[in-house]
Formats: sequence, structure tokens, C-alpha cells
Amino acid sequence: MSGAAALAPTSPILHPTSDAGFAVYVHWPFCLAKCPYCDFNSHVRLQPPDQARYVAAFRREIAHRAALAPGRTVTSIFFGGGTPSLMEGRTVGAILDAIGEAWAIDPHCEVSLEANPTSVEAGRFADFRAAGVNRVSLGVQALNDADLKALGRMHSTQEALDAVAIARKYFERYSFDLIYARSPEQTPALWRAELELAISHAAEHLSLYQLTIEPDTMFERLFKAGKLAVPDHEAGAALYEITQEITARHGLPVYEISNHARPGAECRHNLVYWRYGEYAGIGPGAHGRLVTDEGRMAHSTEKRPEAWLERVEAGGQALVENERLNAEAQGDEYLLMGLRLVEGIDPAVFRALSGRTLNERRVTSLVLDRLLVRKPGGKLACTPEGALVLDAVVADLAA
Ligand code: SF4
Repeated sequence: MSGAAALAPTSPILHPTSDAGFAVYVHWPFCLAKCPYCDFNSHVRLQPPDQARYVAAFRREIAHRAALAPGRTVTSIFFGGGTPSLMEGRTVGAILDAIGEAWAIDPHCEVSLEANPTSVEAGRFADFRAAGVNRVSLGVQALNDADLKALGRMHSTQEALDAVAIARKYFERYSFDLIYARSPEQTPALWRAELELAISHAAEHLSLYQLTIEPDTMFERLFKAGKLAVPDHEAGAALYEITQEITARHGLPVYEISNHARPGAECRHNLVYWRYGEYAGIGPGAHGRLVTDEGRMAHSTEKRPEAWLERVEAGGQALVENERLNAEAQGDEYLLMGLRLVEGIDPAVFRALSGRTLNERRVTSLVLDRLLVRKPGGKLACTPEGALVLDAVVADLAA
């Protein structure tokens, strides 16, 4: 990255969550195959995309967002997808250079890249490191070959563990994802053993998600046809409790509903989202939140990669949404994001964003129901029981 070479002169606008940082999300939308549970903006192409052409378009979108939000210091950059580990190292490097030309870069900037743990992709880790990536997040998903196959993954357990070992060699910070509650056959004993194995290969961070059946996925079609069974709510909750217990015992406590880390090793990028900071979304189907003269703006881009490319080449950006969020929407978003975190939300920040005070009667009722807890300093956080019904807690508080 070329760092603070070309700083825009304008100062950033102060807002109630200015101290949450400024992040840049870069979406690489291509995958080698579509996983049956996936509802991300991912696309399978028979011909590999022209990466140089995409780099030129990414450069233009980055310049566009920097004009909307000049003078920021980037605290985190995240390459997500899709499968960003299909990018060439020089593609990643060129995009990082463009970000460094658009904004100042914090010396401790976290630069994460999502990678699939195949041997081919692990073979690119040295190039990613040389390009400026300092953290990888590996989509391991299961440490069981039969379940990897059922999830449509293209790697084996051994290949995943080998990729984790290669990640450890190049990156002092890495994380990997596992999906649990993925079938009724996944008993508490099996999940315990798998999680213990995962932790023995983990460093400082793990993302542990319960399988959810998302709309318009192959799994949804199979589920509706009665060909896919998933654990019921009680079984899923039991696996969730085991997850909390084992990760805490190993010094990787939960800090967000699905994320566990050694204290200080939390994913800085996602913390920007959850603390309701600003982030620029670059690439097909990317979302962002930027505070401009007009207010806090929600933006998103054209999802189809080729249509995105053509729009950017024609006009320098491919926004399909650029909407000012009113005070109520900002308050709702702050609750929805912040209550995912164990550290919780600050009622004073909610008031500054939404222009209203949290209803004390509702807060007390949620505390008495053991869904919400008051933290030292006045913050409010979900209890583990509250985290399981987060949407209902947020709806109650926001009403
Ligand atoms: S590799 Fe990731 S983004 Fe691509 S289809 Fe599978 S889950 Fe979705």
C-alpha cells in the first residue's frame, strides 16, 4: 500500500460513532461452485474473469467513495466474497494501493482476506502476505469429510487443516469458520469433539455459525421438499451452549453472537460494523454506510458482476442505492448491530443517533426477563438467552 500518499484535505464529519473506525469492504463475487446453503452474492463463471479489468473498475469505485467521504483514516480493509482467495496477489496489491491513494491508512490497519482452504488457494498465501494482507479468514466449515461433502465444499478435512497450518506460517492473525447444527445427526458429543479439534488448530479467533436455511438456496428447496433435516430449536440451543462453554474454557470467549476471540484479537473490521462505524462498500453487491454532508447514507451497488463492471466503466460507480437514513432508522440499526456484541450498546449513543431515549420500562422488563443486562458504565447487553432471540429484543427496545 502506498499509505498516506495522497490525502484529501477535508476533515471527516464528526458523528456519534466516529470512534468506531473507518473500514473498506471489497467484494470479489466469484466462486468455483455454489455451495447449497449460500445466499451471498457469489457467481460461478466458466471463464475466469479479467482481473486487470476488474482492478481498473475497483480503482474507480474507490475514488468515487473517497470523494463522498474524504479525509478518513482507514482502520480496516476486508476482502470478502465470493471467494477472494481466487484473486491473484497482484490484484489484491493493486486494490490496496488504490485504497492507500484515496485515504490515509492507520499504521495498525487490519487487512483481512477470506480464503477457501484448498491447496491451490493456500498456495497463494505468500503472495497475499506480500501484497499487504495481514489476516486471513478460512472457510473451513466442518472437520468431517461427510459433512463437508453435504455442505458442497470442495476441500477435505485434511486439506483444511493443512491450509490452516500454511496460514499460521504467513499470518500472525488468522481465523476460521465452522458451521454447526448442520444435521440432526450432529450430536452434542460429536460437536464437542469437533470443536476441541478446531481449537487445537486455532490461534486467536474462531467464527462459529449455526446453519440457517436461507431463502432461494438449494438447501431451502431441499428443506421444503422434505429432503433435508435440520436440528430443532432445542437441539440447536444445546449446541450453542456447548459452543459458549468450550470456547470460554479455552480462552476464546464469545464477543459477538457467532464470533469468539482471545481478548484483543477480535476482528477489527466486523467491530466497525457492529459499533456502527463508517464503511465504504466497493465491488458488486457491496453495502456501505458513510456520513456525508447529507447525513448517514446507506449505499449498495449493482449485484451482477458484469453489469457492475459496465456501470463503473461507463460512470465511475455502480450505486443502486444511496439513501439518507433518518434518525429512527439509525437508532434501529445501532441496536441491531450493537446488541450482537457482548460489550453491548450505549444508551447515550442511541439517543444521539435516534433523537429519543430508550424506554426505561421496556429495558427493566427485558432485564427482569434475563434477556438484557446492565453493564458497568451504563451500557446494555444481551444475555446468552437474549442473544438467542435478538430480533425480538431489538424489536421490543426499538418500539
Ligand atoms: S465459497 Fe463461500 S461465497 Fe462461494 S458459494 Fe460457497 S459459501 Fe458462498
